[in-house]
Amino acid sequence: MTPMLRLYNTLTREKAAFVPIDPTNVRMYACGPTVYDAAHIGNARPIIVFDLLFRLLRHRYGPAHVTYARNVTDVDDKINVRALERGITIRELTDGTLAQFHRDIRELGVLMADDVNRAGEPARFIEPRATDHIAEMHRLIEGLVVAGHAYVAEGHVLFDVPSMPDYGALSKRPLDEMESGARVEVAPYKRSPLDFVLWKPSKAGEPSWPSPCGIDAAGRPGWHIECSAMSWKHLGETFDIHAGGLDLIFPHHENEVAQSRCCFGTDVMANVWLHNGFLQVEGEKMSKSLGNFITIRQVLNDWPGEVVRLNMLKTHYRQPIDWTLRGLEESSRMLDRWYSVVGETDAASVPSDRFVEALCDDLNTPAAISELHRLATAGRLDEMVLSRDVPGQATQPAALKASANLMGFLRQTASARANAEVAKAGIDVARVEALIAERKAARAAKDWAASDRVRDALTAMGVSVKDNKDGTTSWTVTG
Ligand code: AMP
Ligand code: ZN
Repeated sequence: MTPMLRLYNTLTREKAAFVPIDPTNVRMYACGPTVYDAAHIGNARPIIVFDLLFRLLRHRYGPAHVTYARNVTDVDDKINVRALERGITIRELTDGTLAQFHRDIRELGVLMADDVNRAGEPARFIEPRATDHIAEMHRLIEGLVVAGHAYVAEGHVLFDVPSMPDYGALSKRPLDEMESGARVEVAPYKRSPLDFVLWKPSKAGEPSWPSPCGIDAAGRPGWHIECSAMSWKHLGETFDIHAGGLDLIFPHHENEVAQSRCCFGTDVMANVWLHNGFLQVEGEKMSKSLGNFITIRQVLNDWPGEVVRLNMLKTHYRQPIDWTLRGLEESSRMLDRWYSVVGETDAASVPSDRFVEALCDDLNTPAAISELHRLATAGRLDEMVLSRDVPGQATQPAALKASANLMGFLRQTASARANAEVAKAGIDVARVEALIAERKAARAAKDWAASDRVRDALTAMGVSVKDNKDGTTSWTVTG
């Protein structure tokens, strides 16, 4: 029986059964990157965690029955500043940064548009760019003004926060408390200090578009309206799941809710709100000034993407993660062990029930990983007692592979992985084989000095050799 999927909802602060609005089209949205610079390892967390949720939903409801939109913010102050510094256009900067981001996250095993979308079928993964949705933003902004929830002032359009009595429900900040605590020095054109920008005038050199609401001067959108516009266009007025990092609950997600609900007159924007916890490095908050700021690419230079992904998923998504070298080493050993159990096993199997149950319990990845360990140990025992397949029941290595696959792991065979490592290390396989033959001949002739010289040459190439009991010699990359 398929277990019930339960998710912790920030809106209710409770874990509850997930009931889709339409099980034939489950819709989720996650706030994506602002593409001004290389993404850091903290940014990879929501990408990996919500990719896992997308995979789980596809497993439960069918790949054709889930739509996932993860936006790209390509208009932002940081983008303007960076493009100016580098002397390139904004589009050059955002295209280049986005391409790098795609290379990074593909290596982390994140499902991409070309993995899931099929020609002639509705797109299942969409990556909308803010600047392609200016028309939708205009419609939302004008709708809010007509509905009495927004007003025009000095070339800006502002959301009228006190016009929404239950503003603050997501972040649990009552409106009256926020009003009394608001600072006094506010822009003079704001009616309430809590009001936030939907549209603002562009300064010279900034990107600009014709403004809504009859404003003459050109302008640009505020950040929050972008996500209301993109989620509306691709998922509708109300959808199932909205996700992002913990830091986005207030003000970003609170303001998205305000905009969408007040424009459409709905009770909810998304039924379930999920938020990932933060990542710190070796016990400290990551920051440029502390010198512990690491980009995804820097981590990928030292570690395979699969190790990085496992290291991220070993911690439950709502908990803080401490990103450490020790953790990466441990994740690497875990994967080596699993690969040695699955070897060349075909994935044509089903994930174990316990594994799926763990993921369905609010993405309990630590429990799911424990189940992978159990399957790996059982797989070893299978090998030792030479147990044969029980008809109708998956062998442990096959169940391990299928379960790990659902999480985005063990997607290649052990030999394909070894070959990929060899290729990445730039090792000349023919030369290694020739040296091993040379060493074998030296040993046969009892020329131990020559045999040691060859072994040293292999070590210098990053190759370690092992003489097996059956007389063969195997080799691995040491890095
Ligand atoms: P930003 O580049 O700050 O706009 O962040 C993009 C996404 O990464 C948002 O969903 C943030 O919540 C998330 N994020 C940023 N820093 C971290 C961190 N250290 N740990 C986890 N998530 C983060
Ligand atoms: Zn957003």
